[in-house]
Amino acid sequence: MRKYILVIIICILFCGCQIKNDMAEIQMFAMDTFIDLKAQGENGEKALLEAEKEINRLEKLFSPTIEQSEIFAINQYAAKQTVTVSKDTFDLIEKAKEYCNITEGAFDITIAPVVKAWGFTEEVKRVPSDEEIQQKLQLVDNNKLHIDKQNSTVYLENENMSIDLGGIAKGYASNKVNEILKKNGVSSAVISLGGNVSVTGKRPDGTKWRIAVQDPMNSEGYVGILNVEDTSVITSGVYQRFFEQNGKKYHHIIDTKTGKPTQNGLLSVTIVCDNGAMADALSTSVMVAGLQKGSELWRKLDNFGMIVITDSNEMYISEDIEDIFEVSDDVEYTIHIIQK
Ligand code: AMP
Ligand code: MG
Repeated sequence: MRKYILVIIICILFCGCQIKNDMAEIQMFAMDTFIDLKAQGENGEKALLEAEKEINRLEKLFSPTIEQSEIFAINQYAAKQTVTVSKDTFDLIEKAKEYCNITEGAFDITIAPVVKAWGFTEEVKRVPSDEEIQQKLQLVDNNKLHIDKQNSTVYLENENMSIDLGGIAKGYASNKVNEILKKNGVSSAVISLGGNVSVTGKRPDGTKWRIAVQDPMNSEGYVGILNVEDTSVITSGVYQRFFEQNGKKYHHIIDTKTGKPTQNGLLSVTIVCDNGAMADALSTSVMVAGLQKGSELWRKLDNFGMIVITDSNEMYISEDIEDIFEVSDDVEYTIHIIQK
């Protein structure tokens, strides 16, 4: 209850569109995260108001907890009936299934029962027993999530199965916002949905956008700046959502093999890519798959850049983004370049 009161207060504080230095700005809370939208130019304000509506609309489709959402319906009718969904929900689930295949199951939206057992989608977070984890893991199976493009339907084969789009929905939303910005002729914009940043064009002064990459070991610090245009910069990290029990930290990115928060030494993964949904899915995936498999994926797909930070003070930067990433002077990580 307190959480909702806080959210309402924040929404009241942030409501409306402000204009500063010819830049329209909207701050809002949706999709369980703070969102900041900035766009320049005549149509900036109009585009952002449209974008705000669009994000709220998508949240109502994708939220696993809003009872009228399409995801809620898919989960509720698991093993009972197929659910007809909107094009957005269908496209997103279709994409999520694709990334499950590409990542050999590291990314799997049928992880929901396990995420729920850890309490990440509940009011109270907790450590489930090994037995409970094993039981929930048996429900994780992308092949039992059926989609039918012609009829735009989705069906879960087992009644205890469910899906959770938390690892890809924000990136998808950023793609939709970018479409709105484009449609309105906005040539300079930056949007941030939690750790998911997406930029349109260059800054109003004609220079590239400078996006800081957070230091996973220090919430005040950043490991470097990415100089980018027309791209998404999306980070997944162990520090973003976690709880502590008996002095141990448990974070929200679940290894689909163990049913537990990943323990492969990775603290954060930043993906740079022109497609937000892809960047979002891949940042979560590489966190799960680990450095070696993540690097193989990077070589194979050849259409994104990445920065991986480990708990042994190493920072790995893929060679394609080496030139656009300015590492902070005081950084204490040993730097490695991932090569083709
Ligand atoms: P992100 O912050 O984009 O890395 O997404 C993390 C969220 O994705 C979690 O809060 C869960 O809702 C969901 N999630 C956790 N583990 C996985 C996984 N292995 N595959 C797909 N989604 C996951
Ligand atoms: Mg993600």
